[in-house]
Amino acid sequence: MSPRPSRWFRSRLALALVLASACLAAAPPPLPPDARALVDRAFADLDPAHPVVDVHVHALGLGQDGDGTFVNPAKLSFRHPAKRLETNLYLKATGVKGLDHFDRDYLDVLAARARAFPRPVRIHLLAMDRAYHADGTPDPARTEFHVPNAYVLEAAATYPDVFIPVASIHPARLDALQELEACAAKGVRMLKWLPNAQAIDPADPRYDAFYRRMKELGVVLLTHAGEEKAVAVKGAQALGNPLRLRRPLDLGVTVIVAHCASLGRNEDLDHPGKTAANFDLFLRLMDEPKYQGRLFGDLSAITQVNRLPRPLRTLLARDLDGRLLNGSDYPLPGVDLVVWTRGLVQLKLITAAERKALNEIWKANPLLFDFVLKRTLRDPRTGRQFAASIFQRDPAALSG
Ligand SMILES: [Zn+2]
Repeated sequence: MSPRPSRWFRSRLALALVLASACLAAAPPPLPPDARALVDRAFADLDPAHPVVDVHVHALGLGQDGDGTFVNPAKLSFRHPAKRLETNLYLKATGVKGLDHFDRDYLDVLAARARAFPRPVRIHLLAMDRAYHADGTPDPARTEFHVPNAYVLEAAATYPDVFIPVASIHPARLDALQELEACAAKGVRMLKWLPNAQAIDPADPRYDAFYRRMKELGVVLLTHAGEEKAVAVKGAQALGNPLRLRRPLDLGVTVIVAHCASLGRNEDLDHPGKTAANFDLFLRLMDEPKYQGRLFGDLSAITQVNRLPRPLRTLLARDLDGRLLNGSDYPLPGVDLVVWTRGLVQLKLITAAERKALNEIWKANPLLFDFVLKRTLRDPRTGRQFAASIFQRDPAALSG
């Protein structure tokens, strides 16, 4: 149901004010020498023959000019202040000035931020399918936002130097297999799911045919696991249980677990009646020899304040580098509430001088900030850092 015009207008006004305040901030000045030096260091040991890779960047749109994108009106409404505030923070993080052409400008700003990297960077731009009922009909009330596959395919065609399209297909859709094949035929090599928000149970045996086709087509699954803060639906967090991913893994699908499942707890399905941190359930899967070469994790959101400190510390200390991929979860690195560089200094993961330089980079380009931060982090005891290979690993090369 669409909101009454007056409420819609007030929502737009509120968003416009937020964006206008973002707009007042002048264009970022050139980076000071310390920040420039940290950027140079972050790129110094990369292989010049290959681009930088970011596997986790969200496409986002308000449905302008009939482009098919959708944001649930509840997220923009005065009736839901918490949701609206969250939406406003996201919008501010995008760096878009003014709402009139938000959808187009979002991609323009993102592409500009990617092109400002000193090396070419391949941005995997994520579609987001609707939530669906078990019978395969869409569930608009539960759909937080929607970015159609056609939208990211077109974005990749418009900005071929930066964007790689990542489709999203709810496996309960009546046309799920056809859509999978159509996307693969257009060159798509990865699917994105957010099971908690899309109402997908990765362990549902009804999806076996879908998984088999994914494997045949060499399509990798990038799926959120762990708690998802945006979801309020009862029971939905259980869908983010990493152990539910054994089903696609056992059918031969290559799976990348977003954020390495670094948030929240779930039932330990191997020990009924007990619970465990989602991150530990993820590590348990990583330790199963049969999933070597098939199960991976991405570093998106791993440095955010609400996930610190254990997952980040553990990933820095343990050598899982051959099974990690770089992801920013953009536009989240632009949300200052979740970026807390002071905390990273307290944990001795960066120095105070590095923090100062990183904050300068953040003001100029949050996407570059996320990359440089992850290249700067070190294990305080051993000095170990994330390997350069993580930041150039191409997900399309994982499936085989
Ligand atoms: Zn994400």
